[in-house]
Amino acid sequence: MKRQGSNWLALTKRAEAAEEQAAPVFRSIDGIAERNQWKVIDAFQKHRVSDFHFNGSTGYGYNDTGREVLDLVYADVMGAEAALVRPHFVSGTHTISCALFGLLRPGDELLYITGRPYDTLHKVIGKPGDGKGSLQDFGITYCEVAPLADGSIDWDTVSSKITERTRVIGIQRSRGYDWRASYTVAQIGEMTERVKALKPDVYVFVDNCYGEFTEELEPTQVGVDLMAGSLIKNPGGGIAPTGGYVAGTKHAVELTAYRLTAPGIGGEVGATLGTLRAMYQGLFLAPHLVGQALKGSVFGAVMFEMLGFESNPRFDAPRTDLIQAIRFKDAEQLIAFVQGVQRASAVDSHVVPEPWDMPGYEHPVIMAAGTFMQGGSLELSADAPIREPYIAYMQGGLTYAHVKYGVLNALAMLADRELVVIKPHTT
Ligand SMILES: *Cc1c(COP(=O)(O)O)cnc(C)c1O
Repeated sequence: MKRQGSNWLALTKRAEAAEEQAAPVFRSIDGIAERNQWKVIDAFQKHRVSDFHFNGSTGYGYNDTGREVLDLVYADVMGAEAALVRPHFVSGTHTISCALFGLLRPGDELLYITGRPYDTLHKVIGKPGDGKGSLQDFGITYCEVAPLADGSIDWDTVSSKITERTRVIGIQRSRGYDWRASYTVAQIGEMTERVKALKPDVYVFVDNCYGEFTEELEPTQVGVDLMAGSLIKNPGGGIAPTGGYVAGTKHAVELTAYRLTAPGIGGEVGATLGTLRAMYQGLFLAPHLVGQALKGSVFGAVMFEMLGFESNPRFDAPRTDLIQAIRFKDAEQLIAFVQGVQRASAVDSHVVPEPWDMPGYEHPVIMAAGTFMQGGSLELSADAPIREPYIAYMQGGLTYAHVKYGVLNALAMLADRELVVIKPHTT
């Protein structure tokens, strides 16, 4: 990428102004990252993590101390009774699927109170008689309540939908591919309290993907029974090669473990091979990297806001996940944005992303992912389903400087294609 020309010059001038404007937000993100870093170190120290914990096991993986201690460290970091951290969870979707199948029985109902869940979960929920072994295929029914126009939970409808059969209340912390606000940990705490007042014996489950370490507390610290996330996102710290985790009550975690392996076996087996060191080190790095990614998102939001685009969240709004949504006028702008982000990456910068029908998604999706880890979205990446209202979602970035470079490249791409005019910033 040539860093020259009048567009680039105008953009770098604007970047200076953007960073000045964002300075107080950056300071607050640094503070959160610092306290989360110390929290992680405290948990490592409490469990006396040593280098022999990184060795990993083979075969059945009995007495894999590294695996057992990693579960304890995660449980402490998440403020939960127990955790299960495994390379055998192949993705966030798989982890969430294990958690839901672990908690639900035929005849039970799953009720999502934050509206339609993330796209890849639609097939996990499935349809009655779909023959795929989905939740509904097993006779578990499903119901969702969309949030009100202001993003708050529609409690009237929720309370009318809770029945004898309601077993799991689903909450998705992050916006996913949606323009709604994400839910903060404090809001999730209020939801949990209210749900339990309506029906004390339900499990409150949180899809925590993209949320870890963006705040100082996690959902398991505000009464949630079980939450799940992906190590290909925040808590993997960009270096865990694969995996997922659940954290929550001992009972709920155990039910998930029975589903991941087999009833009676649970978390007691499972060779970790060579994955442990990266899972430990990734957790250690995660608070800092999440901070870098968040600062990058804030920078992206300020830059696009300055140029008249709509962003969500706004640059100075409280954040509870990594996702920065930006709304474009048409598919052309959207595609230029994603291609510009790709062009700024260290890996695969020469590849030009195009929209495609990705498995698990209902519309063609275009993705920029010049990542070291395939699909790693704690690394700078951008996705956009090609559908109105033309919103691109960017997330991640292992270093702030890379995200800044990505945003500037994306804007340069838009300007070079005359899809936006960059005037020099004047104060
Ligand atoms: C990414 C994500 C998932 C699914 O995780 P994968 O690793 O892509 O399978 C589920 N829910 C949310 C909110 C996500 O962001």
